Amino acid sequence: MAFQTIIEPFRIHSVEPLVMTTPGQRRAALAAAGNNLFALRAEDVLIDLLTDSGTGAMSRDQWAAIQRGDESYAGSPSWYRFLESVQELFPFEHVIPTHQGRAAEKILFTVLGGEGKIVPNNTHFDTTRANVEYTGAEAVDLVIPEGHDPASMHPFKGNMDLDALDALLTEHGPERVPVVFVTITNNSGGGQPVSLENLRGVRAICDRHGIPLFLDACRFAENAWFIREREPGHADRDVADIVREIASLADGMTMSAKKDPLGNIGGWLATNDAALAERCRTLLILTEGFPTYGGLAGRDLDALAQGLRESVHHDYLRYRTRSTAYLGEALAQGGVPVVQPIGGHAVYVDAGRLLSHIPPLEFPGQALAVALYEAGGIRGCEIGSVMFGLQPDGTEHPAAMELVRLAIPRRTYTQSHVDYVIEVCLSVAERAHELTGYRITSDPRPLRHFTARFEPVDT
Ligand SMILES: *Cc1c(COP(=O)(O)O)cnc(C)c1O
Repeated sequence: MAFQTIIEPFRIHSVEPLVMTTPGQRRAALAAAGNNLFALRAEDVLIDLLTDSGTGAMSRDQWAAIQRGDESYAGSPSWYRFLESVQELFPFEHVIPTHQGRAAEKILFTVLGGEGKIVPNNTHFDTTRANVEYTGAEAVDLVIPEGHDPASMHPFKGNMDLDALDALLTEHGPERVPVVFVTITNNSGGGQPVSLENLRGVRAICDRHGIPLFLDACRFAENAWFIREREPGHADRDVADIVREIASLADGMTMSAKKDPLGNIGGWLATNDAALAERCRTLLILTEGFPTYGGLAGRDLDALAQGLRESVHHDYLRYRTRSTAYLGEALAQGGVPVVQPIGGHAVYVDAGRLLSHIPPLEFPGQALAVALYEAGGIRGCEIGSVMFGLQPDGTEHPAAMELVRLAIPRRTYTQSHVDYVIEVCLSVAERAHELTGYRITSDPRPLRHFTARFEPVDT
């Protein structure tokens, strides 16, 4: 018979101790950090759900691969193993390694961006938006309306609004729109997947307007798993095969290997456009390194080559998505509003609704994130008006949603850790009405969420 419990498909091989702290110690840590959870010492955090980026546990086979790392400056065997593994899933002709995803973005938008340019995306991730805007270009988010409704149960809430995309491209054309991006899964919109059907639609529109399509493919494996689970006709397919079909619809990609590829560092930029690749490699050499290592050590390239193969295992992806849903479902059942359906890598608590007494520009997400840390040593991440409120012209606008993301590092925490997180969240939610908003006390600047200091509004 089939048993219901979907267990971690691994056992623990090496352990890292957690440091227990008291509420008093955590209050002192918050004061020192200016209530910015990015400024905490990680040892003062008990369960770190700040991000799933680079925080996963590598496998035995990845650690073994690290021993094979070859540190030759040019043409290392590690590079060729990495390249082969990348092209197995993403058969783009030109693969350019970088030290992480934003380095790929910086290089690509330096070439393609600039004043007067417009880059559409379902939803730009924060570094993607910042790198577009830094060149003077405009970053436009065109996710379907359901993507802005935390309660909507649409199975592919990361989908691009095809009519809106077509209208934008009709108005501005390839002169002003150098590239269309689709982020899979849509991180900033709740970790929601994009369907193959929608990707095909984006492809057709891009073809009609003669504009290349790029993927921000950080969570490609989770996205492909959701296609297998939710999109009719794909239930029997191999995830790797779905990934290859996704890749076949695009002209290129950027990647943070700190996400689904199961690395602690790394990324790449890939394209079929030889002239574009040439310009990108020239910039790569300025800031990242020679084109056969980017910003990476040979050993990292080998760890990624192995991680990529593990990232598309069905047992792993079933456990991965199930364990995230386990947290989200428990919170929802306990009355905590969360973005539905539960995404692949994180649970997004709807702080705007839970703390509806706090106005958006007093940062309900920040208030909730601080409260979770104080109560239980849990570190989540505000994804709301702190992250997105500051406009390039210096004004403040509320973000589309006020969320706190509880990101689940890959293969790192067990079910009892998650049960503890559930308990802490439910206890904070019970006294949600007592929480107050925050104001920022430091200078405005791009990506301020990393550095800003906060004080409660009632002081
Ligand atoms: C993490 C991430 C990036 C940036 O990658 P880094 O490796 O953190 O620089 C870009 N896009 C998305 C969707 C991401 O999740």
